[in-house]
Amino acid sequence: MSQEEVIVGIDLGTTNSLVGVVESGFPIILADENGKRLCPSVVHYAESGKITVGEEARRQQILQPDRTVSSVKRLIGQTADSLPKSGHGDHSSPVEADDHGRLSLQLAGGLTQNPAEVSSQILKHLKKVAEDALETEVNRAVITVPAYFNNRQREETRKAGEMAGFTVERIINEPTAAALAYGLENLDEAETVAVYDLGGGTFDLSVLKMQEGLFEVIATAGDTRLGGDDIDLELANFLLLKMEISGDSVNRANSPALLALAREAKEALSREESFEVRLPFFAEGKSYETTVTREELDGVIGPIIEKTRNLCVRAFAEAENKGVSEIDHLILVGGSTRIPLVRELLEKWFGLEPNLSQHPDEAIALGAAVQAGILCGRIRQVVLLDVTPLSLGIETFGGLMNIIIPRNSTIPAKAGELFTNAVANQKSTVIRVLQGEREMARDNWNLGEIEVPFQPGQKGSARVGVQFAIDQNGILEVLTRDTATGEDHILEIRDSAVDVEDTEVEKMVSESIDYAFDDMNERIWTEATMKSRELLPAVETALEQVGELLAAEETKSISDAAERVRQLLENSEEKDAVRLKKANAELDEATQTLAATLVDLAFSQSLEE
Ligand code: ADP
Ligand code: MG
Repeated sequence: MSQEEVIVGIDLGTTNSLVGVVESGFPIILADENGKRLCPSVVHYAESGKITVGEEARRQQILQPDRTVSSVKRLIGQTADSLPKSGHGDHSSPVEADDHGRLSLQLAGGLTQNPAEVSSQILKHLKKVAEDALETEVNRAVITVPAYFNNRQREETRKAGEMAGFTVERIINEPTAAALAYGLENLDEAETVAVYDLGGGTFDLSVLKMQEGLFEVIATAGDTRLGGDDIDLELANFLLLKMEISGDSVNRANSPALLALAREAKEALSREESFEVRLPFFAEGKSYETTVTREELDGVIGPIIEKTRNLCVRAFAEAENKGVSEIDHLILVGGSTRIPLVRELLEKWFGLEPNLSQHPDEAIALGAAVQAGILCGRIRQVVLLDVTPLSLGIETFGGLMNIIIPRNSTIPAKAGELFTNAVANQKSTVIRVLQGEREMARDNWNLGEIEVPFQPGQKGSARVGVQFAIDQNGILEVLTRDTATGEDHILEIRDSAVDVEDTEVEKMVSESIDYAFDDMNERIWTEATMKSRELLPAVETALEQVGELLAAEETKSISDAAERVRQLLENSEEKDAVRLKKANAELDEATQTLAATLVDLAFSQSLEE
């Protein structure tokens, strides 16, 4: 094997990072000189200029928090605006933003580092671990990121890799990597797999379908700010209360010692029922002691774990609309899934026995190593497919959203529909391309517009085909065609079809749920008004033509029904969609004989001709 062939897989975690490689067809995690495979994602900058990464840096954090950076992944690719106001960070040192909102960490002694620089130190360290273990130079890497990382966060991660001296071959999603690790042993079976990843900083849930040699991501959901760090913080505050230590509540920067202790207690409580907490000479030189039980911990962290439930439900529901019954395996990864409560709740919620076959700490790096192995030809080809985060469609009559490619469709994707002109003698129409989950066009995002000219004619005579095609890179091409002339028009929309900011997607989806009832009512109302506007003039004309052929009471019941429709239409503020729909149906019903008479008339006229 030649030197440049080696590609390593790296899990660059918020809390811990690991490096793996495929050897003799199997992915393995590489250990450092102390035999440790898990490297805390902590960087210490000493006065002397020496930079340390890992366990030693984590120890230094308690002594010199202002010279130490942890959880830098929470900052990478973020700007001053995108950063949450408080409660998160845990990077110890103050963060400053320049005029462009770009962040940098201010360390003691006037040292300034940006998040990508800090990450590159971790990657440089892992590069060294790999080179020592493999006794060869390592220059190429596959790096994982949370599924919900946006483009900027991915790009900054890539930059960190390059600064560390790597050629970054791929940036892949963490849950996908976990599934890759799992799939290696289970390649023969066609199964649907959900990966539940609760780490220190992020939560991700992905649903993937596995077929021999092929993985397909069919749904993803997650929260970039949910994990073990939040649990540590809650527990630390609980300990303050329990030990009656007065003063400010804990935040990520103000008490590394207490947070470290909370983490120790939490981790021990995954194995034991109770834990002795000792804080010698803590506040104002006093010492504190108490016992925490697993039950107490469960009480404190229940609400945090509960937050993952809705995200799971949503992704299960969206995975081909089949729900949890279609999930064959629920794979747990991430250090926080060691918490017994997580396992219990998942089983209780979904009636699925969590699959613990994957090493919670190592699965993602092993998967990254598998991907690296595929790239350098050490493993046979496995294809990964991406999904659309939001639905794509166009605006149709009455300002409604008409979905052409639904949310969570696998890309590449292609779909189309045929539309007709709404108005007689129209020469063209404007097709507005929309993205989002709301029923009304105006509540979705406008991606672009395209004007389609066609042969003027009667209402409904023109036929315009609209086709959406998303390619492998997430670029959306909208093609329109006048079917009479065969004339095509093409609009290309870059980036936005697949690459959307995670927070924007979360917002759009949650709004679509919040407004579901109102939206649905508005859609039914709009459709019903269009129907009424069609019915009323038609009924009027028909009554003029053949009204005298009908019995008087029949004519009256038709006019009454028409009047009810008219009144509801006039009362448009109330938008009583259900009643309007009913009134339309009644008018339809009342005009049965009228319609039949019209047909008869037309028939006898045609005989006379
Ligand atoms: P990340 O992906 O964010 O780097 P990891 O998957 O490495 O995170 O998980 C780290 C988290 O797992 C930390 O919050 C850590 O405290 C937690 N953790 C590790 N072991 C245990 C345990 N035995 N019980 C509970 N939590 C644990
Ligand atoms: Mg992780």
